[in-house]
Amino acid sequence: MDDGTELREACGVFGCVAAGEWPAEVDVANVISLGLVGVQHRGQESAGIVTSDGDVTNAKFHSHKGMGLVSQVFKDDPLHKLKGNLGIGHTRYSTAGSSELTNCQPFVVETSHGLIAVAHNGELVNAGKLRKKVLAHGVGLSTQSDSELITQLMALTPKDGEPNGVDWPARFRHIMSETPAAYSLVVMHGDTLYAMRDPFGNRPLCTGKLIGQPLTLEKYESDSENEYGCDCEGWVVSSESCSFQAIGAKYYREILPGEIVAITNSGVRSLCVVPRPKGKDVSAFCIFEYVYFARADSIMEGQMVYTVRKRCGRHLALESDIKADLVSNVPESATPAAMGFAEQSGIPYVEVLTKNRYVGRTFIQPTKRLRQLGVAKKFGALADNFLGKKIILVDDSIVRGNTMGPIIRLLKNAGAKEVHIRVASPPIHNPCYMGINIPTRDELIANHKTPEQLADALGADSLVYLSVDGLVSAVSEGIQDLEEKKMGHCTACLTGNYPVELEW
Ligand code: SF4
Repeated sequence: MDDGTELREACGVFGCVAAGEWPAEVDVANVISLGLVGVQHRGQESAGIVTSDGDVTNAKFHSHKGMGLVSQVFKDDPLHKLKGNLGIGHTRYSTAGSSELTNCQPFVVETSHGLIAVAHNGELVNAGKLRKKVLAHGVGLSTQSDSELITQLMALTPKDGEPNGVDWPARFRHIMSETPAAYSLVVMHGDTLYAMRDPFGNRPLCTGKLIGQPLTLEKYESDSENEYGCDCEGWVVSSESCSFQAIGAKYYREILPGEIVAITNSGVRSLCVVPRPKGKDVSAFCIFEYVYFARADSIMEGQMVYTVRKRCGRHLALESDIKADLVSNVPESATPAAMGFAEQSGIPYVEVLTKNRYVGRTFIQPTKRLRQLGVAKKFGALADNFLGKKIILVDDSIVRGNTMGPIIRLLKNAGAKEVHIRVASPPIHNPCYMGINIPTRDELIANHKTPEQLADALGADSLVYLSVDGLVSAVSEGIQDLEEKKMGHCTACLTGNYPVELEW
């Protein structure tokens, strides 16, 4: 990835419902905090947890939110105050709404049928229209956040003809039929945690079963002999299955596009699947989850992200007619693609770069020059591995093109004979309106330079992107019955084909 100008995921969500007896020293808040650490890569600006005592008619909520990483927000141990046997949590990047405490999630709102809490990942494609609707009901909105908007939509007193009363699933269905994308949501009310994905299934969401003894946050960070006992049972829901491993939970299943599930202490129950708008036959899961956002050990659409990235590398090798001494990666997200390239091409995989873990994110530097210096500081060249050699350097994507130039200079200054760039995803041409922070069209390097021009500008000896067909094939090959299940992928930032009409 074009580090320093990264694409940014909007958020991670997590929820937990306890079942059976739990040890006195462990609460769902402990499990949720660990689950949030597992999806920390999806959002690092703020974190929050809301728990509930699960009273069906008059539930009491406990909440703590703050700016920063999960470990910072909960460092003074406010977890002990978050009592209850069900809860939800959130980690956030801002796409709609600024980075400040008022936009931290989960949102809690009082309705005529008790409190609800909502955590959201995504961006609503018809947010403008929905804002007008909420304001027309006389409800004020205190933030620009789509998540507050969807929370207030849920809480609105229904108009004639709209689902009424305490039938929350009917309310969710109604909102989902008016709002086709893009969201994964966890909602808490009474003794139930609801989880739902938009009808296009654009953002990920899956469930797991808690089979081991949850650990406290302190233990997770300091205890090398983690125990996975069996005396805590329950259900969890997460943006990504990678967060299940640390809490001793087993992956159960993905929530389907448009599906609403209810999770109580007796299990996960599917309530319904809201259909896509007429004429929209296939789902549109974000293909960039596979390229960059998701953690490599997560399971999405029944396949491990790592395996898909490796297949992207294989397809890239098939599309690149090149001979070289070695294949390498830009650490670390391009590693599986580089390994796939090496396997397919028969060219050995050798490391050429090492990463300084203690250099911060380069995008926060105010100028392009400082960001480039940041990149140079971030990597070291393993010169013994490539002196006088012809290198194929694989990266997962190129966004603004600020990072690759300094890396190529670093390698050539350290003795590389040639550096050929291979990118394991197609050029990015368009913004995303579904929850991913992509720079403007003008800032995207692919809108200004052909691969040949970009190679020249970066000082590379050649540059080839994976084709859109190659990426789609790499993703689709591992999905069984793709067509029968009407599964498809959003490629809008690459192709301009948005899966859903954008209404402002
Ligand atoms: S436009 Fe790109 S980043 Fe946005 S949902 Fe589609 S594939 Fe993902």
